[in-house]
Amino acid sequence: MGTDTGFELSPRKVDYIKFINGKSGPVKTNTIADGFGVDPSTITKTMAELAGDGLLVYAPYHGVSLSEKGKITAQFLIKRHRILALALTHFGLSHEQACREASRFESYVSKDAIDQMCRAMGHPNKGVCGDITHDDSCLEG
Ligand SMILES: [Zn+2]
Ligand SMILES: [Zn+2]
Repeated sequence: MGTDTGFELSPRKVDYIKFINGKSGPVKTNTIADGFGVDPSTITKTMAELAGDGLLVYAPYHGVSLSEKGKITAQFLIKRHRILALALTHFGLSHEQACREASRFESYVSKDAIDQMCRAMGHPNKGVCGDITHDDSCLEG
């Protein structure tokens, strides 16, 4: 799985996967390029890498969408963001601040750490920017 440690993806790739996950249906590389203000050729290269990792599938003429593995990975990326943001609110940050600050460093936090934090926080269901879901690895510890 791509979520064994949480370190497999660069911050940029994390953002791309979340972006694709937030769209219904396949996403054109040009749409991603526009969304991030980067060159389409850069996106094409990165999408090929993500497809090579088994996270994306290409739909000819329609763009890219998440594979099953990609969807599971996206769920983890979203949970990681929400657990970290929620933790930051416990230290006095506003919801907006917590979301923004978590986005700066979340890519460097391992899945094990997130599972431990989720347990320590009592498996919260509400994050500051959406619901938090739980899986076997955070529930069984
Ligand atoms: Zn957020
Ligand atoms: Zn949990």
